[in-house]
Amino acid sequence: MSKIVKPLLPLQDLDLEIHRLRTLREEKPRELGGVEERVRRTQGNVEAIKEEIRTLRLEIQKREHLVRELDDKIAKLTNQSMGAKKNDEYQAFLKEISGVKADRARVEDGLLDLMFQADEKAKLEKVRAGELREAEASYAVMKQRVEAEIAELDRELAALEGRRAELLSGIEREILALYERILRVKEDGLALAPVAHYQAIEDEGARNYWGCGGCSVEVTAQMVNELRQGREVIFCRSCSRMLYWKDESPREPAESKP
Ligand SMILES: [Zn+2]
Repeated sequence: MSKIVKPLLPLQDLDLEIHRLRTLREEKPRELGGVEERVRRTQGNVEAIKEEIRTLRLEIQKREHLVRELDDKIAKLTNQSMGAKKNDEYQAFLKEISGVKADRARVEDGLLDLMFQADEKAKLEKVRAGELREAEASYAVMKQRVEAEIAELDRELAALEGRRAELLSGIEREILALYERILRVKEDGLALAPVAHYQAIEDEGARNYWGCGGCSVEVTAQMVNELRQGREVIFCRSCSRMLYWKDESPREPAESKP
């Protein structure tokens, strides 16, 4: 194990844990997505049924107005028929009145049907409003839970950040700056990667090799030698992570099992 990178190991472990918790924390609000969607959907249902009821009530008002108009017309015609001088004139009034009465009956039939529909919709509105209240209640419960979990993660993260600050004081500035620079651009929180054993199945059979524990790209024999000597900092040629050699790693890749 290289003395140069050794002090970075506990820092890297800590940074991986910090990265894990930060990722968890960022994803937490997404857990509310499902219940939020349910609240929106049930709100939409309530709005839709209210709109249907409004439309029905307008139509009912129009027809009630029409019934009153037809009543007036019947009264007026009945009045006029009283003044009829001749029988055929009177018969003509009666015929007209019965025509208007038939119209009125049709309008009133339709009106009753609309009122029945409005009643049914009003019952459905109550059911939909109940569904909305239920969705809002489970949203509130879930939100409280998620917020508590976020607060807990924030507490854990603050503790880890405190621990991290303590660790930094024991690390040489230059190597720390290198490490931090790599860490900033790595989305998985890994800046210091162990050399790991890999096996590739090729036409000639299985091929064992050493690779970067961050990106799995092969690490040359010369690099392995340099890493084992531990005198300088070696970077992965592909992902630029700082590499280190684990003392417990077997000497030859072929000796280990995949
Ligand atoms: Zn790499």
